[in-house]
Amino acid sequence: MRIVLLGPPGSGKGTQGDLIEEKYGFPKVSSGDLLREAVKAGTALGKEAEICMSRGKLVSDELVLDMIQERISQPDCQTGYILDGFPRNISQAEKLEKAVPSAHEVVLDIRLNDHSLVERLSSRRICSDCGMIYNLQMKPPVKEGMCDVCGHKLIRRDDDVPEVIRRRLKIYHEQTEELVIYYRDRDIYHAVDGKGKVDEVFFHISSILDQLLGEFSEKEAVR
Ligand code: AMP
Repeated sequence: MRIVLLGPPGSGKGTQGDLIEEKYGFPKVSSGDLLREAVKAGTALGKEAEICMSRGKLVSDELVLDMIQERISQPDCQTGYILDGFPRNISQAEKLEKAVPSAHEVVLDIRLNDHSLVERLSSRRICSDCGMIYNLQMKPPVKEGMCDVCGHKLIRRDDDVPEVIRRRLKIYHEQTEELVIYYRDRDIYHAVDGKGKVDEVFFHISSILDQLLGEFSEKEAVR
């Protein structure tokens, strides 16, 4: 099963992706996390991506698609995976569909207004080591500035600053939002209200996934 998490930056895709991974066992594949790892490791991909990322612009489709394809070809992704942050535009969606068709695909679009997104992104912090996501208002760490999971320092992402946040939201509205119609036309689209608490949003997501997974296994049983 391929679960595509759509939604603007700050809507909670990363957090919900972690919860889906924990409950259903599908690995979360985050294009942003993979790119940040490449930047940290100083690889050729990281060097190429770094400037675009720090300016809030999209990295080239080819680079990102190669990176995602490589990741989802790994053994742990063979029964399913969660895509967080990819595809980001129609061209990426078409290329993915062509390169890696999926019989069971679901798109969960976590919706939130721009005002709440800016607030959330401004108070977001991530662990400098394991990437765990925190929010100083909604989900603060137990010990200030430290990751609850691994004890490393929490940092603010370079692109979680007002000017870059505005550019990322603009790109989302110009390029990524078109995917709503693209996926709605394929009948695999589900809108999820991202306004509530983390567990309320996850409850909604779980109810969608439980139903779909039930339907898929019924179909498999008939075959
Ligand atoms: P994210 O963690 O999803 O907010 O992504 C952080 C940054 O990584 C974005 O602002 C882009 O510069 C880059 N990025 C992540 N995913 C993609 C993608 N699918 N296509 C192009 N650039 C991406």
